Amino acid sequence: MYDVVVVGAGNAALCAAIAAHEGGARVLVLEKATEEEKGGNSYFTAGGFRFAHDGLDDVCQDVLTDLSDQEKARIDLPAHDRQYFYDTLMKVTHHQADEEMAWRLIDGSRPTMGWLRGHNVRFIPMFGRQSYEVDGKHRFYGGVNIEAVGGGAGLVEALLRRVGELGIEIRYGTGATRLVQDDQCRIEAIEVRGPNGYEQVATRAVVLACGGFEANPEMRVRYLGHGWDLCRVRGTRHNTGDGIRMALDIGAVPFGNWSGCHSVGWDISAPPFGDRTVLDNFQKHSYPLGIMVNIEGKRFVDEGEDYRNLTYVRFGRAIMGQPRRTCVQIFDQKTVGMLRDEYRIKQVTRAEASTIEALAEALDLPPAALAATVREFNAACQPGDYNPAILDGVRTEGIVPPKSNWALPLDTPPYVGYVTTTGITFTFGGLRINETSEVQDVTGRSIPGLYAAGELVGGLFYENYPGGSGLMAGSVFGKLAGGFAARYAAGNQAA
Ligand SMILES: Cc1cc2nc3c(=O)[nH]c(=O)nc-3n(C[C@H](O)[C@H](O)[C@H](O)COP(=O)(O)OP(=O)(O)OC[C@H]3O[C@@H](n4cnc5c(N)ncnc54)[C@H](O)[C@@H]3O)c2cc1C
Repeated sequence: MYDVVVVGAGNAALCAAIAAHEGGARVLVLEKATEEEKGGNSYFTAGGFRFAHDGLDDVCQDVLTDLSDQEKARIDLPAHDRQYFYDTLMKVTHHQADEEMAWRLIDGSRPTMGWLRGHNVRFIPMFGRQSYEVDGKHRFYGGVNIEAVGGGAGLVEALLRRVGELGIEIRYGTGATRLVQDDQCRIEAIEVRGPNGYEQVATRAVVLACGGFEANPEMRVRYLGHGWDLCRVRGTRHNTGDGIRMALDIGAVPFGNWSGCHSVGWDISAPPFGDRTVLDNFQKHSYPLGIMVNIEGKRFVDEGEDYRNLTYVRFGRAIMGQPRRTCVQIFDQKTVGMLRDEYRIKQVTRAEASTIEALAEALDLPPAALAATVREFNAACQPGDYNPAILDGVRTEGIVPPKSNWALPLDTPPYVGYVTTTGITFTFGGLRINETSEVQDVTGRSIPGLYAAGELVGGLFYENYPGGSGLMAGSVFGKLAGGFAARYAAGNQAA
């Protein structure tokens, strides 16, 4: 008999397992993937965390503990206070995020970062992707400024190392298939399918942390809509909605934005699921430095509407609505040197030419239409103090859609184009949890012994998402769920 069985071995699950162990529980972690495919979506991430903090001095106390004084002197890290985090989350979700969950995430974020560091997860500033060098200093922007050393893979390795040190058991290649309740509706076991077929594992509590349904084309079409079976999946092939389905089967209430998901501009030649070597480098997120057009050569979003961290998810969906789900990002030599690292991988779908018409030919776009779009865009660009690190207000006038910041004319050849489509990251709809992380049923009661964390919890993200919140939510709610599950199991020792 286990006290707590944790389903999944991504970031949320491993945080839950460690917290349950800290709470004195005997813990088992079940992972459907083999060890070679370990780490879930968390493995594919950049490892970037968004959390509330008071700036560099605060963060250096117990999160960024490895920086030298010289390094600190070259970093300008603005505070990211709790109200700003809240306002950002509410702004991008149009105030649909569950208020109470939002504050639980935000107020749990800073202590949880220290807790992770205490469990030997190391962090560094995101120099490459979230800062621009201005006057010899790295000026960070956008709120996602700290990453795990080694990115998502490093995060998963560090958490697994810790789980191993603590003696927590993990069974790979063993997927949970069904929750088993007693006649009081309490969880009493979980059915699994492992190397030897089906078996039931007795347990007092279960923490579901096995991801959303992004890797399940049937569920994607059912909930996200027409065409979503055709997108690429950025991460693991194993997040097929199993935890959500198991909970709904025993009466859990669906919660959150079931028709919404996180998706991004993703290289059109990327494979159907995440590649464990290329990781998240198929994404193409420097569009604020240029323009985006569809295969008719027409712009379709305001590329400079806001910081990339607040627009990239919505634009992933916007690409889905374009003909053949295709988008081309175009830059000239004024900005091409500032493109993020992900543009320099060898697997990139790219063309370069000395005129816009020649670029269009190379990319199979209609040359006259693209040239007209660029001419119109250039003529609409207003003069101003260009600064890619702030919302600089350098904008277009008189065109639809506008470009509200960073609008520089495309006039310095050679021009470079990158071809993208939509890659789905994770789904927003899921289960409802209460303040002690218990899964709620359709009558508004807790399902005794059932807890949840990570992607499969609904209520936080609606239509859009502030970058770096997925890992943070997984850690905060995983830690809480593990702790509460351990406490529940301790109170049900006789059961
Ligand atoms: C390419 C990419 C880049 C990203 N970058 C960032 C970033 O920088 N910052 C950020 O905050 N977020 C990022 N995200 C989002 C982030 O990955 C997720 O929000 C977060 O990792 C989800 O964690 P999780 O533990 O809920 O799920 P996962 O890490 O996906 O873990 C779920 C686990 O459950 C397992 N599983 C599934 N079904 C079963 C079953 N039936 N039984 C047992 N196990 C099962 C899966 O195999 C998987 O290992 C990114 C995602 C991707 C794909």
